[in-house]
Amino acid sequence: MLKAIEQLLVLQDRDRKIRALKAELKVTPLEKKNLDEALVRSTAHRDAQKLKGQELEIARKKMEMEVDSKRATITKLNQQKFETRKNEEYQAYTEEIKRFEAEIRAIEDRELEVMESAESQRALIAQAEKDLTEAQALNARQNKNIEEKVQAIGVQLTEIEAERSRLATEVEEDLLDTYNRLFASKNDSAVVALEHEVCTGCHMKLTPSTAAKTKAGREIPHCEQCGRILYAGS
Ligand SMILES: [Zn+2]
Repeated sequence: MLKAIEQLLVLQDRDRKIRALKAELKVTPLEKKNLDEALVRSTAHRDAQKLKGQELEIARKKMEMEVDSKRATITKLNQQKFETRKNEEYQAYTEEIKRFEAEIRAIEDRELEVMESAESQRALIAQAEKDLTEAQALNARQNKNIEEKVQAIGVQLTEIEAERSRLATEVEEDLLDTYNRLFASKNDSAVVALEHEVCTGCHMKLTPSTAAKTKAGREIPHCEQCGRILYAGS
């Protein structure tokens, strides 16, 4: 094989590695975004559970206040009841007091239900807090992994890019230009094998003269169809 082709194949290998590493780096912001979204969901769930708990507490307090106010009214009615001398009024006060007492019982029944709901809600809040703490720890771990990966890729990239630059200086300038152009435009394959008279880049059959030129290995042949640089494969 021509030395120039050998050099280009090594160059192409490094260029592919560089491309792959850069592609990996490119997805990390998305990976981070997905991680953070999971955390946002967990936080929102916890907040919603807490809000529900607060609403139940507010409802319970409101009922307590209603009961207190009705009790105060009953006290007042009792006073009026004992102060009156009219039997009719006495009866009316008694009835009204009964009505208020029934209302208080109804409110207290509902209050009991709200208190039971609040009790189960407290368990849900505790679970949501626990889940959030776990989600935060997981997020921190995963973000750290991504950071470490980014760093490792950075180190690798620096090394390979330095090697790539050194390798490129060994290739003749015009050939390097052609290679660079092909690598960029031909889907990361500038130098391809010729297998059974077929270009493995575009899968077209080559003319006998190009095939012969490739096998002879004395000059640099190009596929007539796609322009890629050829070397003799198996
Ligand atoms: Zn081709």
